Amino acid sequence: MIQSPRRKRAYVETYGCQMNISDSELMEGILEESGYDIVDAPEDADVVLVNTCAIREHAEKRVLGRVSQLNGLKRENPDLVIAVTGCMAQRMGEKLLREAPYVQLVVGPDGYRSLPETLAKLDVGADVGLSHEIGKAGRKGRQLAVLTLDMDENYQGLEQRRSEGPSAWIPIQRGCDHRCTFCIVPYVRGGEKNRSAKDVVAEVRGLAESGVTEVTLLGQTVNSYLWEGVDFPHLLRDVARVDGIRRVRFTSPHPNDVSDELVEVMAAEPAVCEHLHLPAQSGNDRTLKRMLRRYTVGYLLEKVSLVREAMPGIALSTDIIVAFPGETEDEFRDTLDLMRTVRFDEAFTYKYSLRAGTPATRLPAEDFIGGDEAQARLVELIEVSRAIQSEINHAEVGRIDEVLIEAEARDLGQVRGRTRRNKVVVFDGEVARVGEYTHVALERTTGATFAGSEVAEPLPVPV
Ligand code: SAM
Repeated sequence: MIQSPRRKRAYVETYGCQMNISDSELMEGILEESGYDIVDAPEDADVVLVNTCAIREHAEKRVLGRVSQLNGLKRENPDLVIAVTGCMAQRMGEKLLREAPYVQLVVGPDGYRSLPETLAKLDVGADVGLSHEIGKAGRKGRQLAVLTLDMDENYQGLEQRRSEGPSAWIPIQRGCDHRCTFCIVPYVRGGEKNRSAKDVVAEVRGLAESGVTEVTLLGQTVNSYLWEGVDFPHLLRDVARVDGIRRVRFTSPHPNDVSDELVEVMAAEPAVCEHLHLPAQSGNDRTLKRMLRRYTVGYLLEKVSLVREAMPGIALSTDIIVAFPGETEDEFRDTLDLMRTVRFDEAFTYKYSLRAGTPATRLPAEDFIGGDEAQARLVELIEVSRAIQSEINHAEVGRIDEVLIEAEARDLGQVRGRTRRNKVVVFDGEVARVGEYTHVALERTTGATFAGSEVAEPLPVPV
């Protein structure tokens, strides 16, 4: 083993979804455990790990731009190792090493456990004397790829390095067994793997003891979770009942697993927040069928009614893809109709992005929708969804909501927090109060976020 006179330093930069944020915490934990210091700037690091997303081409282009920028740093410090991890690393593999030759390492989502050994092979953090012995040219030229997908790897037993604060991401599931025709996830993260329910609950207990009060359970289709007879509603209930946990969220669920039992647990457990992300993807049955989403618009609307009946006032958010190959103008209008019917509190909107290797790429070439048309649909969808969001939020001005203070706001002397319904609120407060719960009267809205003032906790309404 290489002896280093000082601790090695790693910097992890994250792109993409909550699962990636959580994976970055996992990598940081693994590296810290093996003797690395985690630093806050790439300039201070021996190795920079860029943890990536492959969901859309745009996300990958951003990463390519970023690693080329990091190469500037490597020119000043030739010993710096640039590594690309995560979904894009898995998707592009050795092609990425060829296209960006200054990247020395690509590691897919199942290769994090052995990161310290892998980095040792590249002599990360070896002292300068040793690096000269090895010879800079050899060191610079060496490249490694760790891309095996492992059906048994769920990182059980490893500690994430969590930033201090009241909230924690809890990965309960990795990979995905669905085959939505647009989606790259099953090919870069492999099939669905769930963690033991006992482990998850023990982890939440430990976090609660250390002061965490809000947890978000994570998985690609988190509500299809199943471990030795414990399904998602049961796990959610057990987590919600952990002493000290005041808020539980989960993302991303699949509409098909929004069962009666899940809705019952959500409604019954006081810690489960009144917010549900329900990725619809489209408001047209033919498009949903060709996306292989395995539900219809009618089914989605039934789920929305079920959830709203059980939890009146629950906030709903969604994901929508426009210009899926073959989507006609009328079918796109059906999606706008769905938005107007359901009135989601928030929508994450995407233009279809072709992902090599996914089933949708085999659709007839003439079905693919041109950039201008796709862009026009996206703009119209955003207009409609923002207008609805703004109407909903303006109607909520005057409410008093419980807010968990999460961070300092942009303006001095202000803090930012979130309501149980996942609405962002800014108000006067000191940063030292991060982690506290308070009550805030919502006084103004930009349409998307709120500004308010702290008030005394409202008295319970007499029954
Ligand atoms: N398994 C997660 C889910 O179903 O929610 C995937 C989360 S993905 C990070 C978030 C969203 O990206 C998906 O719900 C979908 O709307 C969008 N997306 C996935 N593949 C896409 C593609 N090829 N083009 C455009 N948007 C895509």
